[in-house]
Amino acid sequence: MKLLFDYGHGGNDPGASYKGRKEADDVLRLGRAVAKRLRQAGVTVDETRAADTTLGLGPRVKRDKASRYDYFVSFHRNAHQPEKAHGAEVFTYPTASAKAKDLAVQLQNVLVRVGFADRGVKTANYYVLRNTRSPAVLIEAGFIDNSEDNRLFDEKFEAMVDGLAGCFVDLKVACGKI
Ligand SMILES: [Zn+2]
Repeated sequence: MKLLFDYGHGGNDPGASYKGRKEADDVLRLGRAVAKRLRQAGVTVDETRAADTTLGLGPRVKRDKASRYDYFVSFHRNAHQPEKAHGAEVFTYPTASAKAKDLAVQLQNVLVRVGFADRGVKTANYYVLRNTRSPAVLIEAGFIDNSEDNRLFDEKFEAMVDGLAGCFVDLKVACGKI
């Protein structure tokens, strides 16, 4: 099992922000924690960025094409208008493989069991989904401009990490059973 984790935004691009909280930081923290858990289980996890650095979409996709990965997983947090929307969703490209779509369903199940409202598994014509070669998914782990979603993100962080990691390998806390 070899994975490429992609943490959205970073550096000059904080992504969405709300009350001093930045999407780029949240997704780095979440993704790196999942990566750490998976490495402990013997999974190889490469990352498009490992710190708060600026990285365009092109290099992220290039990285994916430079090697053979079982999955490309992009971590994001959503935003709409302050306190107006909430919940989690996971995206694939419309014509994605069953492998990618199955993973999206599993990841979404974890986020819903953690407590996020279920906005569903969706498709979108996002650059990193369209241009990657590996089965690709994009996670929106709740809305950063929703206080309840941020509370869930922080309070259920460990359960979320366990659950997401469990989707890739049979860990103690299996995917969807948290
Ligand atoms: Zn984003």
